[in-house]
Amino acid sequence: MQVPLLDLARQYKKIKTEIDQAVYKVLEHTKFIMGPEVVEFEDQAAEYCGSKYALGVASGTDALLIALRACGVRAGDEVITSTFSFFASAGVISRLGATPVFVDIDSDTYNLRSEEVKKAVNDKTRVIMPVHIFGQCADMDAILQIAGENDIMVVEDAAQAIGSKYKGKTAGTMGDFGCFSFFPSKNLGAAGDAGMIISDFMDKQTFMKSLRDHGAHPKYYHSYIGYNSRLDTLQAAILSVKLRYLDQWTEARRKNAVFYNDAFKDVPVKTPVELEHNYHIYNQYTIATEKRDELMEHLRKHEIGCAIYYPLPLHAQECYKYLGYKDGDYENAPWASREVLSIPIYPDLTDDERNYVVEVISAFFK
Ligand SMILES: *Cc1c(COP(=O)(O)O)cnc(C)c1O
Repeated sequence: MQVPLLDLARQYKKIKTEIDQAVYKVLEHTKFIMGPEVVEFEDQAAEYCGSKYALGVASGTDALLIALRACGVRAGDEVITSTFSFFASAGVISRLGATPVFVDIDSDTYNLRSEEVKKAVNDKTRVIMPVHIFGQCADMDAILQIAGENDIMVVEDAAQAIGSKYKGKTAGTMGDFGCFSFFPSKNLGAAGDAGMIISDFMDKQTFMKSLRDHGAHPKYYHSYIGYNSRLDTLQAAILSVKLRYLDQWTEARRKNAVFYNDAFKDVPVKTPVELEHNYHIYNQYTIATEKRDELMEHLRKHEIGCAIYYPLPLHAQECYKYLGYKDGDYENAPWASREVLSIPIYPDLTDDERNYVVEVISAFFK
């Protein structure tokens, strides 16, 4: 049996009529740039997340970049983030001439360790950027407290965490800005690149809106140097359709996670830890084992999709050598990079497929 890590074709088949209708509608009205579907989707997404404003942008990376600009991040500033994340979390900091300060993670949740965040704060720190990794929220009370005490802004990298909750609060609504990615493999995925920023402040919203369109306000008058980072009308139309199914898909992912957690009870792998106050949306179901590389080979042989998120922490990336970090500075991130493996968790996974994944992994350890 073949089980891919993610099967988007299956998802499309189920909602094909609605998606096709939405796409054809845009093809016919031809308002490809900033068509009515963009604002429609922004309003729906803001309501879904429980924030006042949502701003559609071209990618999750641009969402982070524009949110950091709205925090006033510039050359000489420091931004604290997790060393165990996708590269975008760090790249956007550097692109503004600021310095990423990479902090270690917790070994259960793979999220930022707040004690380490506290130690990393100094008078150059402008923003803390927690990453809600794999779909579970970071330790936000502690992070917001550190930020509040030091007059630092908070940008949530919620790229993997749409609809995730922390003590009843929705990912992206706790910091000053929440950034989302609609990269196809995210829980809410576009048919290409797309992203979004949510916030509650009208003035910041206006500023970010102009940055999204070359910093123009009004058109052809530029007070700032911005970007070409609008959300495509076609993507917005597709996302609106998919948003209606998001909760149902998340629930299916969570059911798969419960199934795996139970099935792996007697298998020597570390399963994801969902903290009691969290509502994890399982963008990834990530296990850990010392035999990770051998297990991966075994899964490949049995045609089960899997992937390593992430094989090299950000502090150890070639382009960040100049910052002078060593693996020895980190207790958990280098371990995570050696041992983690993400396995299929997507909502359309069948019972047979789930059983097969468990069988193949259990057999490996026997
Ligand atoms: C996907 C992702 C991003 C970037 O999103 P894009 O839409 O691909 O630009 C940023 N941060 C994290 C943690 C991500 O997983």
